[in-house]
Amino acid sequence: MARIITDECISCGTCEGECPTSAIAPGAEHYEINAETCVDCGACESACPVGAIIEE
Ligand code: SF4
Ligand code: SF4
Repeated sequence: MARIITDECISCGTCEGECPTSAIAPGAEHYEINAETCVDCGACESACPVGAIIEE
């Protein structure tokens, strides 16, 4: 299980710096979470200003 980033993302980049496993990076449309490296800690979800990160 990993968290995912929805289309609500405004690409502010805040979550990228919060992730302990560097699982977040800019994608084609918006930032994306690598499900292989995400440990589901929730730090990014708390940091996102627009609530774009949700549990799958
Ligand atoms: Fe990174 Fe934690 Fe967010 Fe997963 S839940 S992308 S490990 S900050
Ligand atoms: Fe997108 Fe939220 Fe991450 Fe900002 S913190 S890049 S709005 S998912």
